[in-house]
Amino acid sequence: MNKIPPFDVSQQYQQIGDRLNQAALAVLASGQYIGGQTVSQFESEFAKYIGTTHGVACNSGTDALYLALRALNIGEGDEVITSPFTFFASAETISMTGAKPIFVDIEAHSFNMNVDLLEALITDRTKAIMPVHLFGRSVDMAKLMAIAKKYNLYVIEDCAQATGATFNGQKVGNIGDVGCFSFYPTKNLGGCGDGGMMTTNNAEIAEKLHVLREHGSPKRYFHEYIGMNSRLDSLQAALLQVKLPYLDKWNSQRREISDRYTGLLKDANIPNIAFPHRCPGSVWNQYTICIGEGKRNDVQAQLREQNIITMIYYPLPLHLQAVYANLGYKKGDFPVTEDVCDRVLSLPMFPELSEEQQNRVVITLQKILA
Ligand SMILES: *Cc1c(COP(=O)(O)O)cnc(C)c1O
Repeated sequence: MNKIPPFDVSQQYQQIGDRLNQAALAVLASGQYIGGQTVSQFESEFAKYIGTTHGVACNSGTDALYLALRALNIGEGDEVITSPFTFFASAETISMTGAKPIFVDIEAHSFNMNVDLLEALITDRTKAIMPVHLFGRSVDMAKLMAIAKKYNLYVIEDCAQATGATFNGQKVGNIGDVGCFSFYPTKNLGGCGDGGMMTTNNAEIAEKLHVLREHGSPKRYFHEYIGMNSRLDSLQAALLQVKLPYLDKWNSQRREISDRYTGLLKDANIPNIAFPHRCPGSVWNQYTICIGEGKRNDVQAQLREQNIITMIYYPLPLHLQAVYANLGYKKGDFPVTEDVCDRVLSLPMFPELSEEQQNRVVITLQKILA
């Protein structure tokens, strides 16, 4: 049996390789490898796509989060509330600024932070909330923004897995103060290397983001802040510029695949699994099911034997990570998060996944769990 991979980024190259080659060669011939028009054009095209007035490119999604926090003056003594069920960078960047990550449990059905639990965690040190739109699906931004407004908190959206996703028709990254995106190859808009972007409608914040990503210097060799070097390469910008017009098509293919998975799984009537709720605004970076207690790792191994490769995002919640022992959390603090970490399994998901491949995934799951 052929291998079904969890993602397959080379397929985009097969579709639009000629255009990517041309764009890359044009940059190579231009001699402009850092900054320049290609980067600023891509920044404005991306901002236009999200609907914000500003887009500031940087070296990764991680840097985008860190720079956004720094631009909002978050640091030592401050607290930022985020999800314990996310990629490490969400909390890591809060810690990098000197601030303290405060975790809030998630909802089982969306895997996103449970905004009803937010208010109880707000103290006079709370400066910001960092919602993470996990697996392509938006957090409940209506409730979240109302709370942020009430307590005068900044909102930094971690949109790394949700490029193009919407909440009530509005694109994520255009709802809070700053939206942070990743162009890591497996994200919905993936480059051929690392890359990131920050979006905002606030000119002052945009200016500070520009300055911080280039050594805190508004003018070359004159430094106002401790910044960093976090630029997007011209080469990545050129490749991403070619890919951006295809993003909506790829996202709608992901949507169709997720609907089809759900239909197949319902029909298969497999005991002990839960599949994601329908969500029209999601861009389905992952299609993640939950498997009955204690069975997940075995199911994953059996799928692997049949050459179907699945992923576990994420096996250990952030509040139980070794590096965060000093935060004082313990097992049992976030029961929903801890439960899903033992049960989640992300099925193969990429825009080019075929119907035959999907059928095979579901039939194999059915055989294993019957
Ligand atoms: C990928 C990811 C990041 C980090 O992005 P990089 O470009 O890999 O640095 C941050 N948050 C989440 C939720 C992610 O999935």
